[in-house]
Amino acid sequence: MTTTATAAVLRAFNQPLAFERATVPAPAPGAVVARVAFGGVCGTDVHLHHGNLPIPLPLILGHEGVGHVARLGEGVATDFTGLPLREDDAIAWMSNITCGRCHWCVVAGERTLCEQRKVYGVNQRFDQFPGLSGSWADTMYLQPGSAIFRLTAGVTPQQAIALGCAGPTAVHGVLDITRIEVGDTVVVQGSGPVGIAAAMYAHLAGAAKVILVGAPASRLALAKELGVGDVHLDIELMPDPAERIRWVREETPGGRGATVVLECAGVPAAVPEGFEMAAPGSRYLVLGQYTDRGPVPINPHIITRKQLQVLGSWGFAEKHYQGHIQALPNLKRRFDLDRLVTTYPLSQANQVLADMAAGRVMKPLLVPDAAAD
Ligand SMILES: [Zn+2]
Ligand SMILES: [Zn+2]
Repeated sequence: MTTTATAAVLRAFNQPLAFERATVPAPAPGAVVARVAFGGVCGTDVHLHHGNLPIPLPLILGHEGVGHVARLGEGVATDFTGLPLREDDAIAWMSNITCGRCHWCVVAGERTLCEQRKVYGVNQRFDQFPGLSGSWADTMYLQPGSAIFRLTAGVTPQQAIALGCAGPTAVHGVLDITRIEVGDTVVVQGSGPVGIAAAMYAHLAGAAKVILVGAPASRLALAKELGVGDVHLDIELMPDPAERIRWVREETPGGRGATVVLECAGVPAAVPEGFEMAAPGSRYLVLGQYTDRGPVPINPHIITRKQLQVLGSWGFAEKHYQGHIQALPNLKRRFDLDRLVTTYPLSQANQVLADMAAGRVMKPLLVPDAAAD
């Protein structure tokens, strides 16, 4: 096996990533060295590149990764679910390692709230051991405690990463927190990866109707082609929120509004608009506000009068990631996951950040190539 790796390294915010070489450490007991097949690119990476979040530098970006086992550390015989794990097995790994000892991990049982989480591609420095802690590289060092899943049932690495972190994020928010029920009328605000994943899981959970509200037209067209959403509203063609609210309500039984509204837009103004699309007695999930984009006026009277349940959901824990991996055979049977993906060679990591910032692609994936060496 190779003993050096190539990685795209963020050394200064808003500057081009540098392609650098690093030594691959031998895996310590409990660790796994992986060959990266695909490093996922997500909206968060654009924010990280711009310095919108407090992160240490230098850093290899990439919190979404799939690949193959290169070397197993001592004592690693199975994946997270107990399946035997061997060299060359196709695997997916979760981006977070929770501490397992704090109040949130142990007492509250809410591992997504752990404040000491290690997050690949976000808070693991390139210049500290083990260094190779992001998926925008040809090799990754998966530290002891990583939740690693062997891919089975004909699921390819590309399919396993086609929704990126949006997949397990939707499992947590849409299924675990909001608990979609058979027959629900569901509005999804936002047609990026989180909105697409949320709509897919709403369909799988038995929603009677999924109303997808988003933009740009290319993303809605792709959603339609994949069978994601039953009806689609392009907010660029209908820029007046009052008109959109009327349109959505007319799509719901009795014009009462949706029984579930899932905010996946990341725009603060989506929240008061979504309250108006919600039926009395319904559930409203705020899922898309990952970065703090400031306050927005809300009329709290609506929450009381409608008996609205307003919910929040932050990231995902092991059980949600595992749920997503185990749902993949079902998801791929129903939706052509490969259609979401655009691949780029790793050496074009700077181009991918620009394309992602411009919303030109749904799900870019970086594939290690010799040109990055
Ligand atoms: Zn913890
Ligand atoms: Zn992501």
